[in-house]
Amino acid sequence: MTTPIIVWLRRDLRLADQPAFRAAGARGPVIPVYLLDDETPKHRKMGAASRWWLHHSLANLAADLEQVGSRLILRRGKCDEVLAALAAESGAREVHGLHHVEPWWRNAERAVGKVLDLMLHHGLYLAPPGSVLTGGGTPFKIYTPFWRALQERLPPAPPLPAPKLTAPASWPASDRLEDWHLLPTRPDWAGGMRAEWTPGEGGAAERLETFTRRAARYAERRNLPSMIGTSRLSPHLHFGEVSPAQVWHAVANAGGSVTTFLGELGWRDYAANVIHQFPDYAARSYKEEFEHLPWRTGPEAEADLMAWQQGRTGYPIVDAGMRELWATGWMHNRVRMIVASFLIKHLLIDWRRGEEWFWDTLVDADHAQNAVNWQWSAGSGVDANMFVRIMAPLTQSPKFDAAGYIRQWVPELARLGDAEIHDPGLLRPRGYPAKIIEHVVGRARALAAHAAMKAV
Ligand SMILES: Cc1cc2nc3c(=O)[nH]c(=O)nc-3n(C[C@H](O)[C@H](O)[C@H](O)COP(=O)(O)OP(=O)(O)OC[C@H]3O[C@@H](n4cnc5c(N)ncnc54)[C@H](O)[C@@H]3O)c2cc1C
Repeated sequence: MTTPIIVWLRRDLRLADQPAFRAAGARGPVIPVYLLDDETPKHRKMGAASRWWLHHSLANLAADLEQVGSRLILRRGKCDEVLAALAAESGAREVHGLHHVEPWWRNAERAVGKVLDLMLHHGLYLAPPGSVLTGGGTPFKIYTPFWRALQERLPPAPPLPAPKLTAPASWPASDRLEDWHLLPTRPDWAGGMRAEWTPGEGGAAERLETFTRRAARYAERRNLPSMIGTSRLSPHLHFGEVSPAQVWHAVANAGGSVTTFLGELGWRDYAANVIHQFPDYAARSYKEEFEHLPWRTGPEAEADLMAWQQGRTGYPIVDAGMRELWATGWMHNRVRMIVASFLIKHLLIDWRRGEEWFWDTLVDADHAQNAVNWQWSAGSGVDANMFVRIMAPLTQSPKFDAAGYIRQWVPELARLGDAEIHDPGLLRPRGYPAKIIEHVVGRARALAAHAAMKAV
């Protein structure tokens, strides 16, 4: 009888191009295990939309494993303790997993490595975070030179096929997925998510195949929220249902403007590279001075935050985006930029409040990508200070042809014509709110706050 090997799964829920499965499968019988660990991430435990996704992704992975004669073992608790207990129970000595970039996972990997023989592999990014360096051997802070250097390491290695897995002589006990209560019940707010998404490796492969046919026209369509011009692979990439190398190899020869898309995959690696250097990036403004920006607080600011969250700001493009997020757990990237700028500048609410809301409501909520993009929107991050470049939602909306998008997500405006729908003004139907603040007033208040911060 051969000693079994544990594969510790986290955001890497796939069989193909999964180096931990590959390495473990080559060495002996494999026990695949997913641990629901809400203790290790502390306040960064998974948000509600991510938990919905996780439930379905695990159910799919379990079914895929059954198909190849294996199983998915589910356990709950602090990862180092549960893994040690599982190893003792099953006689396993080795654990294989993939390197994760989140600071709590890096700490946990150190803790697990102290009690078990932990072998970590790379497979979540095009290049391991922390490995793309300047000529002087230091990590990059800015995207453009990072991307230039990363491209010298590409293409990534061709994806690995799904491994053959051998079952252990006996299976350890598993929790029942239903008992984890990851799905919302009272109320069940996930109807829009069920309609939009198919979590799991199969769903990811379908999305990728569909996108591959459209990839050549990515650049001309990616900023138009009224059409499906982007890949919508972000939650699949976040949960590791598809690897960036698989995506790369599927689309790289699509022609047209596919290089623009590959650059977005580069942004994903870049965000991981920033978090690798600055683990508390989601909690602190990188530019220290932003800690002195006089953000609005108190009951009025809280009411404005709620109006933003509910899509009731009186700015149709902002409201459409926030309602799309609530219904589907996803929002178009151009609209994410608009709503983030609106919260931070027009409403002068701390970027961290927006980051937290996205963390709870996005199905692709990602510690690195969310924090890096929110700090980019605020101008408080490692790149240029964008705070004074205040996006005007009423200009952005017609510029990116958002009429169809607004009709879909703000049905009370659906009867308005293309000319009025971006800014209904006097045609505002009963029930749709007046603007929460006039653009010029919000803009002036934001610039004054920025000037006050600079004067400290
Ligand atoms: C305020 C704000 C918060 C965001 N939070 C997240 C988040 O939590 N999780 C997340 O995955 N993305 C986040 N993004 C980035 C981006 O909006 C999404 O990745 C994108 O909309 C996903 O749609 P897609 O898969 O169709 O992207 P595509 O345009 O098809 O791009 C392909 C992939 O590239 C990556 N990517 C694209 N744009 C970016 C970017 N700006 N930064 C980093 N990676 C990128 C994603 O993994 C995406 O799936 C955020 C953007 C903003 C402005």
